[in-house]
Parts: sequence; structure tokens; C-alpha cells
Amino acid sequence: RFVAFEGGDGAGKSTQVRLLGEWLTEHGYTPLLTHEPGATEAGVKMREVLLHGGELTPRAEALLFAADRAHHVETVVRPALEAGEVVVTDRFSDSSVAYQGTGRDLGTAEVAQLSRWATQGLVPDLTIVLDVEPDIGRLRRDDQHDRLEQEPDEFHARVRERFLALARRAPSRYLVVDAALGPQQIHREVLDRLTALLPE
Ligand code: C5P
Repeated sequence: RFVAFEGGDGAGKSTQVRLLGEWLTEHGYTPLLTHEPGATEAGVKMREVLLHGGELTPRAEALLFAADRAHHVETVVRPALEAGEVVVTDRFSDSSVAYQGTGRDLGTAEVAQLSRWATQGLVPDLTIVLDVEPDIGRLRRDDQHDRLEQEPDEFHARVRERFLALARRAPSRYLVVDAALGPQQIHREVLDRLTALLPE
């Protein structure tokens, strides 16, 4: 099974990935917890360029996120799925559709197509969108990424709307949770939805 957490900066994704990982281990599953960008050796370098590498045009940015994802899927995600592990990732293709497709105005269909090519069509069984209001996200995020986190609230508002639109288009594969709730309550909502999807 393949689960993705998506949502704006400061939504609490990494906390939820950790809580879900602990729950899965306690219940006898073998979780693989991972993230994008930067979960592989080459990915760490791509992440460094993306976050601290100076000016990067939107197309170059989109291609670098896609390159990171292609390598991540082929070397980490698919092997774990084939070994029967439950893979939980902090961000996946929808982040590119939202940030590069909508945020950077590259077009959602084209960026989605780029991601399909990069992942050879891998789609999460469940995507959990942690929905955060831009002003709450701004207070919560750590502002360690000089280039990408200086975007105005209006940018984050458009990114947020794209995540919600993606979830509306395929409700059977999405769960939207209000990121203003407490971590334990969010975790319970995730489990309520996820347990039906897990293998016995
Ligand atoms: O989730 P994380 O903090 O690791 O993401 C790093 C930065 O990259 C964040 O500022 C996030 O908004 C940005 N990002 C992006 N496009 C993506 C994925 C992440 O702009 N496709």
C-alpha cells in the first residue's frame, strides 16, 4: 500500500507521517517512511539546489522536482512496495501539480503528465491532504528554505485551492483533514480512513 501526505507548508505532515509510522509498526506492519524532495543520496543534492541553489526558472524547478521523484520512486518506493511494505511519503506528485502547476503557473495538466512520466504512472492508494490556511501555515513553517518559502500568502492560497481541487476530483482516493485540529485528532481521522485499505 502507498500513502501520501500532501498540503501546504506548516500543515503538520511530518508529524502525521511519524505518528502513522509508529501506529503501523505497533500493529505488525513494516512501514517505510519517506519524503520528497531529498530522500536519496542524489535527492539530497537536488533538494539543496531546489531550496538553496539560487535562481531557478519555473521549468527547471519543475524538472528537478520530477527528477528527484523519478529517482525516489525507482530506487526507494517501488522496491518497498514490491516487498509488501506500507510506504508513507511526505509529499508526492500532487505537490508538483499544486506548487509548480498552479503556484508557478506552469499548468496542472502538463505538470501532472511530467509526474506520470517520472513515476511510470505510480498513484498513491490514499492521499491525505492536510488543509492549512496560509496564515496559519506561515506561522508554523520554519522558514529554513530561503528561496521557496518567501512566497506571499496569495501563492500559498492558490496552492491550497489546487490541493483541494485534486481531492474533489477523486474522492475515493483522497482524505482532506483540517490541519488546525490537534495532531492526535488528525491521526485518528487518518486511521479511520486508512485501516480499511491495509492488508490483513
Ligand atoms: O515539505 P518540505 O518542507 O520538505 O518542502 C520543501 C519546500 O519545497 C517547501 O517550501 C515546499 O513548499 C516546496 N515545494 C515546492 N514544490 C514541490 C514540493 C515542495 O515548491 N513540488
